[in-house]
Amino acid sequence: MADDSIAVVDLDRCQPDRCNYECANFCPPNRTGKDCIVTREEHYDDPHDGGADQIWISEEICLGESCGICVEKCPFDAIEIINLPQELDDDPAHRYGDNAFALYGLPVPDAGRVTGVLGPNGIGKTTAVRALAGELVPNLGAVDTDPDWERVLDRFRGTELQPYVERLRADEVTVARKPQYVDAIPDRFDGTTRDLLERTDERGVLSSLIDRLSIGPVVDQSIDSLSGGELQRVALAATVARDADFYFLDEVTPYLDIGQRVAAARLVADLADDDERDRSVLVVEHDLAVLDLLADTLHVAYGRPGAFGVITDPKSTRNGINEYLTGYLDNENMRIRPDSITFEEHAPRTSTAGTTLLEYPDLGVSYGEDAFSLEVDAGTVYRGEVLGVVGPNGIGKSTFAKLLAGSLEPDEGSLDAPLDVAYKPQYVEADQPMRVDAFLSSITDEFGTSLWNTEIRDPLQLERVMDQRLPDLSGGERQRVAVAATLSRDADLYLLDEPSAHLDVEQRVRTTTAIRRYAESHDVTALVVDHDIYMIDLLADRLLVFEGEPAARGHAAPPRGMREGMNEFLAELDVTFRRDARTGRPRINKPGSQKDREQKRSGEYYYAPEES
Ligand code: ADP
Ligand code: ADP
Ligand code: SF4
Repeated sequence: MADDSIAVVDLDRCQPDRCNYECANFCPPNRTGKDCIVTREEHYDDPHDGGADQIWISEEICLGESCGICVEKCPFDAIEIINLPQELDDDPAHRYGDNAFALYGLPVPDAGRVTGVLGPNGIGKTTAVRALAGELVPNLGAVDTDPDWERVLDRFRGTELQPYVERLRADEVTVARKPQYVDAIPDRFDGTTRDLLERTDERGVLSSLIDRLSIGPVVDQSIDSLSGGELQRVALAATVARDADFYFLDEVTPYLDIGQRVAAARLVADLADDDERDRSVLVVEHDLAVLDLLADTLHVAYGRPGAFGVITDPKSTRNGINEYLTGYLDNENMRIRPDSITFEEHAPRTSTAGTTLLEYPDLGVSYGEDAFSLEVDAGTVYRGEVLGVVGPNGIGKSTFAKLLAGSLEPDEGSLDAPLDVAYKPQYVEADQPMRVDAFLSSITDEFGTSLWNTEIRDPLQLERVMDQRLPDLSGGERQRVAVAATLSRDADLYLLDEPSAHLDVEQRVRTTTAIRRYAESHDVTALVVDHDIYMIDLLADRLLVFEGEPAARGHAAPPRGMREGMNEFLAELDVTFRRDARTGRPRINKPGSQKDREQKRSGEYYYAPEES
């Protein structure tokens, strides 16, 4: 038997009342009379989780991935058979049960440092964190025994994790956690921002946090009136205000603009770098420019989402991100992706090859006296191009879209004919109790055609969520369905506001490619607002830069080439980027460093000469 393979059965998908046990009937060992695939009732005296008639697969008897007959036969894609990498010689750190997800390795919290974890969704990052937070005692793969810390300590004795596990066993670790989905906070908390923050301020640092995260304007507002970006900053402040040994931050960037991301990153770095007390900070983050700025060391997580995950030993942040992007882990000698993700180090030539979609004059609009006002300089938008839209939150980007769509009349200037605009808002709500396939087929007749599948379903990896209901989707799944729904509409102009939120790096790249290809092949225009600089870099042909004073006045410059646009945008933010010599990826310069000063002097904020 292939003892280096695991069988994973998704009990939410296994539906024996709707199939004929094709998996068991065709399994070669079963056909020779062995009990490789049996029902859970046949295997267990008491089939604890899952239904009695659902299947159990013997990993001892199974022939491994090269057979894979059951995987093919199952009508509901409920089975995965996977040969584990040979390099994994240990048992898992935790397994959720027989035929369930297995996690190999754990990150090592490091006193006084920020440890990053980089990897796809569903790879076990949260599981690892729950273990380190003492919420879940790792069972070391022994799913039928009661786990205890003594055994965990035996396993990690002599490793870097030993001292930490000793403290966990003695129940000495205090933990503060920021959840991934801040949108759910108002359901659990009634009161104002100040009420919430005062309750968590164990370190007496509230006023400095309010200042550094610019929470002041909303401090007396009720939590349920806050926008996603405001909630994100309040949640971060509430976590950092606690007096803990171990801080776990599950994504700090969604809904924040770049300035806010950099401020959040510096705050977290300072938290670890505190002389009063040894604090370890563990951050899961998919915005690579921010992760780069934030983390002192990095664990890469790889594997097969939903089936198994491996947390590597710590790497330097620079190497970890580079290896992740190139798709090859050096120390592990492991390919995690067939091809590498690459960046253009030099500004692309401005393309004006496309035909004109829209030429607009100077426009002005305001929401009333003393309310927000927006000035737009005349510009041209081409068909088939992707325009990256950058600028802080609350600066008029959505207002501009409303002008183009004709749903808002400008006070100054006028547009000839309104365009058909398909719009994905920044905060995606999906509360209709409807299945994903029903929802998407209600939007387009193209649903299910091979072209639609190739252009939209496959790059956005929607096949496995089609039979789920919208309210049951995770944040990342909901985002991908919302992007699919927007691209499926018939329109001239597609405006997507922060499509990267809650997507992992792989999904960001795939979504980016889907948007680009769609714009090109349908000869339409996509305007994509995003605050992940890597995503904008991979996505945009040109840039539309908004600046001004959020919530007071905004100004949109005409669309520009990438070099000019980035320089304008980053000069406003006072941030410069250098290039990594190995991958060409942009890296934020330390403020006041030699490179930072040189680049500011020469006005090259983004496309600077290579780092040596
Ligand atoms: P990540 O944080 O990397 O997205 P998670 O640690 O949340 O990943 O989950 C990894 C896998 O473990 C998921 O596929 C999930 O289905 C599975 N999983 C999580 N919790 C449980 C549980 N209580 N029982 C069984 N499987 C679980
Ligand atoms: P962005 O898309 O850049 O985040 P918006 O265009 O949504 O910015 O909003 C810009 C400013 O206008 C914000 O301060 C917002 O509160 C305000 N605003 C947006 N819509 C309205 C409206 N209908 N009435 C009054 N103010 C509005
Ligand atoms: Fe049976 Fe394993 Fe083959 Fe599936 S992969 S049919 S369980 S031997």
